[in-house]
Amino acid sequence: MPDLSAALRARIAAHGPLPLEAFMAEAAAAYYAEGRAFGRDGDFVTAPEISQVFGELVGLWCALRWIAMGRPARVLVCECGPGRGTLIADFLRAARSVPGFAAAIELHLVETSAALRRAQAEALGATPARWHESLGTVPGDAPLLLVANEFLDALPVRQLVRRGGLWRAVRVGLAEGAFVAVDGPETLPPPDLLAALPPPEEGCVIEHRPAAEDFARDLGRRLADQGGAALILDYGPAASGYGDSLQAVRRHRFAPPLEAPGTADLTAHVDFARIAAAARPAAAFGPAPQGRWLLAMGIRERTAQLAAHATPEQAKALASGAARLCEAPAMGRLFKALALLPPGAAAPEGFGNP
Ligand code: SAH
Repeated sequence: MPDLSAALRARIAAHGPLPLEAFMAEAAAAYYAEGRAFGRDGDFVTAPEISQVFGELVGLWCALRWIAMGRPARVLVCECGPGRGTLIADFLRAARSVPGFAAAIELHLVETSAALRRAQAEALGATPARWHESLGTVPGDAPLLLVANEFLDALPVRQLVRRGGLWRAVRVGLAEGAFVAVDGPETLPPPDLLAALPPPEEGCVIEHRPAAEDFARDLGRRLADQGGAALILDYGPAASGYGDSLQAVRRHRFAPPLEAPGTADLTAHVDFARIAAAARPAAAFGPAPQGRWLLAMGIRERTAQLAAHATPEQAKALASGAARLCEAPAMGRLFKALALLPPGAAAPEGFGNP
């Protein structure tokens, strides 16, 4: 494994500070290439790894969308950033209980890490799938049911900091061999983002995510053209705001974000308002707090059903998993669900009024 820190140090020494976005992209590629990220032995635990019910309810939501579309004979199920493949395996198990749905599914996975592609293939067993580097190569000739859990948070962010009445790009430089944030050249934030925010104060930070917005634009166009639905589950605020939300997690603890790139999970909050705006003309619903969406989809009932056939120990784990997924301050509130549907669609399951 080449040492990413050494390579980035040499690059900065030769060419000057790197845009934060480039630093984050390199760190993510190296980090996910290793594939050790997930689960109790890894760096962090995601919702599908906490309870099988999470992936099952996502599958059920998609099944209900498929039924609402009139049960098309062919539907593209596309998961972006499937990690170890846990969500999609639980999704497909639930899908098999809905007559006709599993047989209609053509499975597409957007994943850049070769190690994680292998883990996903293993989780899928005999179920065939096609892998893609990006959404761009997923077919456009059938309705699309797209799922992305903790995918957008891993895409690189751009940061700008307010200094002396100007916006300056945040770059990553070196101080005594350590990576540090430095002020780069004057750069203008997207005008629509500025328009959504109060007047800036000295030192405040704006984040935006061109890669995620490009993804949302493509997705929105596809939903309008192909039909279907998308469910985006991630963490971040419902409305745009100021603030530096870059964070690194290693072995279940926060670490300094710029330290040792490629050895920790480096993420930033998803700005759901901008994702929904970029996806227009698709109709957006939510974001709803993840806990509220899971409760509306029946997490309690499904958990109780599983627990009735489980050992007391398994039943306890199922109950604590469901609680962890639903309850603030754990994952219930910062984590949110955003649904995107073709223009003019009515609210989908779990996004009605509380
Ligand atoms: N959805 C999973 C994993 C989340 S981690 C879960 O909930 O457990 C982020 C996932 O996105 C990983 O599978 C990672 O390899 C993938 N990923 C990160 N950046 C990507 C990119 N630019 N393109 C495609 N996949 C990416």
